[in-house]
Amino acid sequence: MDTWKLVALDTGTSLIEKSILTYLTDVGQTVRIPRVMWYLQGAQRVLVDTSVDSEEVAANIIGENLSRSPDQEPANALRAVGVDPKQIDLIIFTHLHWDHCGNLALFPNSRLLAQRDEVRYAYAPSRFFERAFLSPQAGLVPPYLGRRVELLGGDEEILPGLQVLLSPGHTPGSQAVRVKTARGWFTIAGDAIFTYENLEKDIPPGFHVQVDQALDSMHRIARVSDVVLPSHDYKVFGDQLVVELGG
Ligand SMILES: [Zn+2]
Repeated sequence: MDTWKLVALDTGTSLIEKSILTYLTDVGQTVRIPRVMWYLQGAQRVLVDTSVDSEEVAANIIGENLSRSPDQEPANALRAVGVDPKQIDLIIFTHLHWDHCGNLALFPNSRLLAQRDEVRYAYAPSRFFERAFLSPQAGLVPPYLGRRVELLGGDEEILPGLQVLLSPGHTPGSQAVRVKTARGWFTIAGDAIFTYENLEKDIPPGFHVQVDQALDSMHRIARVSDVVLPSHDYKVFGDQLVVELGG
């Protein structure tokens, strides 16, 4: 039985400008988004993305607000599903933007996996994207610095029933994580798909390095998935979608 259990952990909320999510659409509107961290349990204990470090990083470096209750602290959110952060075996980064790879000091025993193209770009992106990656080129310290990141070169099976799919466009080395569950193949899209609206209205993510690739990646993820899980949509917490631990 190479099926996995999957749970979406709520690790905080932010208010952002809507067209960041949906390219050139609803410019000027403000929307509330969740900061999701995904826990997978199967052959190993796995996280997909590790959320934002802190309210201070969000406010002082990025200029975005984050509010986080004690229950939404990543360590507490994991403990609420019966997992000690030190037990996490493996972390797969969908990409290396600041809000997807924080909190790594909580996980000293985890292997870290990302696409080689992502690690290369994140260190020295174009000027516009330096802060989003916390790049040393902007005088910042990316969270993974000082840790070994195992580099992937495209689509790969990581463990039975757990695959990554290269999904570029939002960033050069974005990847989606496809997981076999008792209810079919679920795909954690990362920021290749911010919200269900991107899919329903066929609108690419508003923040991207290559918009045509971004659209292609959305379509590919949808094609190979029974259920798509966007990165910043409150609907993922509904139990119609997410296979809860023990559920
Ligand atoms: Zn991103």
